[in-house]
Amino acid sequence: MSDSNDLLADLTDDQRAAVTHGEGPLLILAGAGSGKTRVITRRVAHLLRSGVRASNILAITFTNKAASEMKNRVEKLAPGNRVWVSTFHSLGARLLRQYAERLGFDRNFTIYDVDDRNKLVKDALEASGMDNVKFSPERVGGAISKAKNQLLTPPQYERTATDFFQQVVGKVYHGYEKRLRKANAMDFDDLLYLPAMALKTNEELRAELDARFKYVLIDEYQDTNSAQYQIVKQLSLNYPNLCVVGDPDQSIYKWRGSDIKIILDFERDFPDSRTITLAQNYRSTKSIIHAASVLIDHNKQRKKKDLVTDNPQGDPVRVITFDNGLDEAEGVVLRIKEAVKSGKFKYRDHAIFMRINALTRSLESAFVKHGVKFQIVKGLAFFERKENRDVLAYLRLLANPQDTVSFLRVVNEPGRGIGKVSLDKLQGFAADQEIGLLAAAGQVAKITEIRGKAVSGLRDFHRMMSDLRARLDLPPHDLVRLVLEKSGYEAMLRDSTDEDDAERLANVGELVTAAKQFWDEDNTRTITDFLEQITLASDVDGWDEQADHVSVMTLHASKGLEFPVVYVLAVEEGLLPHERSMGRDDEIEEERRLCFVGMTRAMKELYMCHARMREFRGQLNYCIPSGFLQELPRGGVEFIDPSMARNAARTAADEWRLKASSAAKDWADTGARPFIPPRKPNPELKPTIPDAPDTGLAVGVLVQHEEFGLGNVTDVSGYGALRRVKIRFPAHGEKVFAGDKIRLKVVG
Ligand code: ATP
Ligand code: MG
Repeated sequence: MSDSNDLLADLTDDQRAAVTHGEGPLLILAGAGSGKTRVITRRVAHLLRSGVRASNILAITFTNKAASEMKNRVEKLAPGNRVWVSTFHSLGARLLRQYAERLGFDRNFTIYDVDDRNKLVKDALEASGMDNVKFSPERVGGAISKAKNQLLTPPQYERTATDFFQQVVGKVYHGYEKRLRKANAMDFDDLLYLPAMALKTNEELRAELDARFKYVLIDEYQDTNSAQYQIVKQLSLNYPNLCVVGDPDQSIYKWRGSDIKIILDFERDFPDSRTITLAQNYRSTKSIIHAASVLIDHNKQRKKKDLVTDNPQGDPVRVITFDNGLDEAEGVVLRIKEAVKSGKFKYRDHAIFMRINALTRSLESAFVKHGVKFQIVKGLAFFERKENRDVLAYLRLLANPQDTVSFLRVVNEPGRGIGKVSLDKLQGFAADQEIGLLAAAGQVAKITEIRGKAVSGLRDFHRMMSDLRARLDLPPHDLVRLVLEKSGYEAMLRDSTDEDDAERLANVGELVTAAKQFWDEDNTRTITDFLEQITLASDVDGWDEQADHVSVMTLHASKGLEFPVVYVLAVEEGLLPHERSMGRDDEIEEERRLCFVGMTRAMKELYMCHARMREFRGQLNYCIPSGFLQELPRGGVEFIDPSMARNAARTAADEWRLKASSAAKDWADTGARPFIPPRKPNPELKPTIPDAPDTGLAVGVLVQHEEFGLGNVTDVSGYGALRRVKIRFPAHGEKVFAGDKIRLKVVG
């Protein structure tokens, strides 16, 4: 055993008590930046050094990135130990594969993302005779997801259904589950739902895993949902050495099923537990801590908790008012550039947060214009490109020949003369024979209704996939290369005269590189591991914090991170708090927590920005400063209004306060929290926003497409050549169009 001094020396007494706590449940309830994550990491290292075997420890983090960071730290503190550190979802996937046979699953299952899920839901909706316009697959899929997170089986859900929508969901839930199992697929929620159910109903397995994971440690416990809680609970019955850390003020995932009650009930659920609180913040200046604390104190459903710091007072928190969204982007980028030029900070010391991703566009142009390097931390958009999704679908189908969604995606991509009618027949045959679509394609000769080119198309497709399946054990990147070649996908792109296809070709080439890098890190990784990593990645997983770039991300993605300088943009009514939360106190409180999370990421400087006008969803709106800005303390916060500074008559702060108080009065008059409904743009204001597209295309607009008929716009993003419009057509599903090429008529 090595000396523990280095593990404990730089900890406070409370932190040390948490790290060295022996057996039994331990709750660490502590504020932002108080060292919770540090304590978890040290505790894992301490357990190892005290002789606990690595295989008996399970640590859960909120993102894959946090998991690999923790793994690396532990490895440094206690070399030679490979501790299982993962997210709940990765844990679930791994358990399901490891115990597949015992649980009656095929271990080569595919993990379906939300898009895949919605395709199956749509199919199930239609099969049950329901109208997929009235009950959109997204909405029904969301309800099923919620049901699974509450561990409700289809019959249980049906029994508790009260209104018509729930009855529909109940029906579809059955059909959806059947389709999932037939495709040998799991959706995200299954990765929690199935292990939780297995642990609840299979005592032998439960006891075995409980004994295996004698020590369970969980970071960010305030965002646990019921299914996750069940897993934790079942793993901690015989060996209740469960250590959870969290901060109820940072619970921000209710919309995904997180339940703040779970952490608040810990002491009741785990009798004999010990609770340690950490009050000292090590991250931020006094000004930042004070401002954030005063804000969060406005939450009523909250256990009061003080946060203190010995750090210096630091600069005041600055609230900056901009004329419009473009000024805001420009102003922030220029400030950052200045701070770097003066040598005060590096680009990577800066982070910009916002409530929704859609606000990044103007920032991007400002970054490009001023030559500032930036990184938008946003999903793995690269893997979501059509061409990459296609190639990944080939790979998924290879790993799991039952995968219906992937089969339908690639069977005629590139074109093999297989039309919709033939595919319908094929699906009918597969259903009759109770076989998968790929297997059915192999027996196409028996399906007399399929004729012509489709016959050879399906037969050849089946043969090609069988040949490729024989090579499944190739390193992932070699397999990707082979798929590109044998499927004809690469040739299709290479032979095309369309310029976009040249870019697509480059992208699928990058996919080979991504697979190679993945394999280089660990040569035992398979294609299934590669696919799983892509599917389970969260926004922040693709973030490279080493690069000297400004990081741009949503407030949700910022959780757990820290940066010397933080800008929170668009702190405006309707955005933060988000319009969806309006009029509902508990939702507003969640938005306030989100704002609090963003603020407490800042170490030295914090800027809260808002604009008077902002173009959003293609419309120019007047914006009201967020009520949260008014809740900030007057001391230690500085109000800056660059355009007012030019007008010496009043100080910026006076002006802002005036505006804020008159806005507050307006709100008070209505008796409700303010919400500014999207207004019709004033044409006179239009020219102040260069580039503004005037297509009339906005979310919710009904359009008529030449080929697909009537549809609803569901998303609009990007500008010029990068403009993308997503439209859902009742008969054809969701389609994305390049905005400048699209032929549409706006109907209403
Ligand atoms: P969050 O609530 O945001 O997740 P946290 O409670 O997990 O925060 P950490 O990220 O572990 O806090 O720690 C915040 C910062 O304070 C880190 O930079 C960490 O290294 C530092 N820190 C934590 N404890 C100490 C300590 N005892 N002495 C010096 N620095 C510390
Ligand atoms: Mg943390």
